[in-house]
Amino acid sequence: MPTLAEKKSTRGPARTGRPAPELIFGDLWVFDPAPESADPKLKPRYDLFIGGQFVAPKSGKYFASINPANEQKLAEIALAGREDVDAAYAAAERAFSTTWGRLPGRERAKYLFRIARLLQDRAREFAVAETLDGGKPIKESRDFDVPMAAAHFFYHAGWADKLDYVAPGRRVAPLGVVGQVIPWNFPLLMLAWKIAPALAMGNTVVLKPAETTSITCLKLAEILQDAGLPPGTVNFVTGAGETGAAVMGHPTAAKVAFTGSTEVGKIIMRSLAGTEKKMTMELGGKAANIVFDDAPIDQAVEGIVNGIFFNQGHVCCAGSRLLVHEPVADRVLAKLKNRLRVLRVGDPMDKNTDIGAINSKEQLGKIAALVESGVQEGAEIFQPPCRLPTKGYYFRPTIFSGVSMSHRIAREEIFGPVLSILTFRTVEEAIEKANNTAYGLSAGVWTDKGSRILKMSVELKAGVVWANTYNKFDPASPFGGYKESGFGREGGRQGLLDYCKLV
Ligand code: NAP
Ligand code: MG
Repeated sequence: MPTLAEKKSTRGPARTGRPAPELIFGDLWVFDPAPESADPKLKPRYDLFIGGQFVAPKSGKYFASINPANEQKLAEIALAGREDVDAAYAAAERAFSTTWGRLPGRERAKYLFRIARLLQDRAREFAVAETLDGGKPIKESRDFDVPMAAAHFFYHAGWADKLDYVAPGRRVAPLGVVGQVIPWNFPLLMLAWKIAPALAMGNTVVLKPAETTSITCLKLAEILQDAGLPPGTVNFVTGAGETGAAVMGHPTAAKVAFTGSTEVGKIIMRSLAGTEKKMTMELGGKAANIVFDDAPIDQAVEGIVNGIFFNQGHVCCAGSRLLVHEPVADRVLAKLKNRLRVLRVGDPMDKNTDIGAINSKEQLGKIAALVESGVQEGAEIFQPPCRLPTKGYYFRPTIFSGVSMSHRIAREEIFGPVLSILTFRTVEEAIEKANNTAYGLSAGVWTDKGSRILKMSVELKAGVVWANTYNKFDPASPFGGYKESGFGREGGRQGLLDYCKLV
């Protein structure tokens, strides 16, 4: 452990006026490790959650959930087969026709409030479990994922007895049983986005979390039991893609809601074409974060870093393409490189970590392959020389400059901590480049001019446009895509409308 004097001596030369020597990660400031210590209260084995009970899968099969930060096994998770999915739908159908579906909205609200409060009570425990299972930094699970998940339950609790105002002049009714499948990047938060509006409207649910991140979903099942939610109202079936396909294709599902890749979204849409199921799809993205020369550059640099390196870039709406106005391009790039040099990559459980572990070995491989394609296609790569842990899945934050629209790294979703930088000269060119993508989930605009923000927000074909900020969320604000980023909205009044029929 370095002494205080040693720490001070490595603080860098800024105050002496001498030129900066080549700094490597950790040499600028040496922090003592600050591991989060709360007990995640994990069980060695998690069964399926069907009809309000934990039940063993019919096949008797389990798979391991591992901690991507050190590759250690955390727990065994039940593998649901078709019969288990049938049992989950039967339980959900029963709850819809006998208990949950018959409760008035003001009664449903009480359960949603209870779930939100119980989640708040166990917030630290859930944050630790989320970080261990998924690899995201503890400061993100603690300050973003868990509080936002609770906020979604609170928000929808507030709606449950006011549904007459969701569609003014019309009455709304629940759809029945809804099938939902979610990805691994925000396991608990995506779960809240899915089940809170469905329950507020009076539907019942069968949900499958992602194979690599099932633990907080099954921990939430404990909360649903503690809240006294009528058995069968929410059912969790764990497993991989096949289980997901069984959930999406089940004849009992009146509606399916999917969040995941565009590729799998298209498979589901094809398989359900011609059925009467209602569908919402929250798919991939390749957002443009656009910086004009009149932008507050230092704030913009923070926004760019937050936009792409937050949660290791495992964010559908990540600002993965930086479009920067030519007059400030060199300045922005230089500042970004400096910022990257001091990002802390490493143990997600350390409270000082900025960039944690990549969620799985497969995802690490995908990121590495796309980065390699960027190098091969001639873009200029920058990675800070940080030391990575020897065990676990980690990737250095990466910036590519000199990128053109034909490069794969400018077109394909990387879903990792990799930023591709393009430049533009005029507003029209910025809009054209930003919209020149198959996706349309989000975008960011950095400028001093309000009129330009308004123009950009109209012209950009993206579901969310952030102005002079990035990655800001609120349960009252609808979220969703254009084009291949999907359809339907989650959050706000619009999100509720996707879980009801107008009568
Ligand atoms: P993915 O491979 O599409 O998987 C998403 C979920 O679908 C997982 O639970 C997966 O199971 C399941 N699945 C796989 N094949 C299936 C099939 N044939 N039928 C039904 N379900 C199936 O996506 P991912 O790699 O986990 O997640 C990253 C993607 O999600 C990115 O593209 C990201 O942009 C997108 N995303 C979008 C939003 C949004 O709001 N628009 C939000 C978050 C993420 P297993 O993983 O267990 O195999
Ligand atoms: Mg895991």
